[in-house]
Amino acid sequence: MIRLNVPVIDADDIAAVRKVLESGFLVQGEHVQGFEEEVAEIVGIEHAVAVSSGTAALHLALLALGVGPGDVVVTTAYSWVATANVVELVGARPVFVDIDPATHNMAPEALEDVLSRMGDSAGAGRVKAVLPVHAFGRMAEMPAIAELAARYGVAVVEDAACALGAILDGRPAGAWGRAGCFSFHPRKAVTTGEGGMVVTSDADLASQVRVLRNHGQRPGPDGVEFVEPGFNYRMTDFQAALGRSQVAKLDRIIEARRAAAARYDTLLAGTNVETSAPAPDGSSVHQSYVVLLPHGTDRTSVIASMRARGVETTIGTVHIPLCAYYRSTYGYAPGDFPSADDVAARSLTLPLYDGITAPDQEAVAAALAAGLGSARTR
Ligand SMILES: *Cc1c(COP(=O)(O)O)cnc(C)c1O
Repeated sequence: MIRLNVPVIDADDIAAVRKVLESGFLVQGEHVQGFEEEVAEIVGIEHAVAVSSGTAALHLALLALGVGPGDVVVTTAYSWVATANVVELVGARPVFVDIDPATHNMAPEALEDVLSRMGDSAGAGRVKAVLPVHAFGRMAEMPAIAELAARYGVAVVEDAACALGAILDGRPAGAWGRAGCFSFHPRKAVTTGEGGMVVTSDADLASQVRVLRNHGQRPGPDGVEFVEPGFNYRMTDFQAALGRSQVAKLDRIIEARRAAAARYDTLLAGTNVETSAPAPDGSSVHQSYVVLLPHGTDRTSVIASMRARGVETTIGTVHIPLCAYYRSTYGYAPGDFPSADDVAARSLTLPLYDGITAPDQEAVAAALAAGLGSARTR
């Protein structure tokens, strides 16, 4: 089976984890801080706080910014569901904007439309933050998004879960807003099993995230003080050791993913599947390679047929407003986000990882063509 993703776990990764396990100090050792410093350096920003997942990173970033009941957070309609769930979890309300089908990212015009309608309201219903997502590792249109957010006086929090190492206009993913959030889930380019990171240039924000990740404790004059109810969202030291050996080869992994994505672009050129518009140089790390099947294709049968030919695929990501919870809570319906409707219905993720071979990718393209040839159309 050609798998969707195979995490890069080399001998040095295993040795790094083994060393921590053998030391007997599993949670309060040196590696969490070391990993934080290394990620801060990659993002070119002062502070990084390691946490237990990308979802925890987003949750704490919103809490530390003071987003809460009565607030609105504007985000994309098409992302992993955690992007919107964290807004609900802090008691705020997500307002979704449609995507650009060529990039799968939040369309700046759609953001402008929402901000021009809601951006000036004060009190309950005020827009507190914009939460753009770098879909599938490709950076959103951050210059336009940052400009709009500044114009309306709204904070930017980047869901950069899939985009560690991406750079747009000389500025890395995670460094565009008040805070950036990364994930190290095994579906991302570098992994710690579960894990996440909040990055920020704001020392107070970083310190508040540290307090919240560790039971609400803060060093005080008489030792530790518990200043508010917090979480246990800490990362273990063996995960951080793995993170360090992973980010040490980030450049190589990104290069391999870019080469594999370019190979798919070539293999699929001239076929009836739509590939994404080329991303500006350096701005995509290709966490996933997602294509759009021809209109009316029965995607389920394509996935099954490719699986029968030994190729694992899946849908793109989630149309959040049409999830059961968001649909029933806010009354969204098909037609509210036409581009997300279309992309969510037609997207297919192909296998992509460091170490996928050219013959593997040719087999994927052949299985896709065969699957499309035999698929029913609706
Ligand atoms: C993976 C992902 C998350 C959540 O990260 P976890 O580490 O799985 O909690 C959030 N947002 C996006 C866009 C993601 O892809």
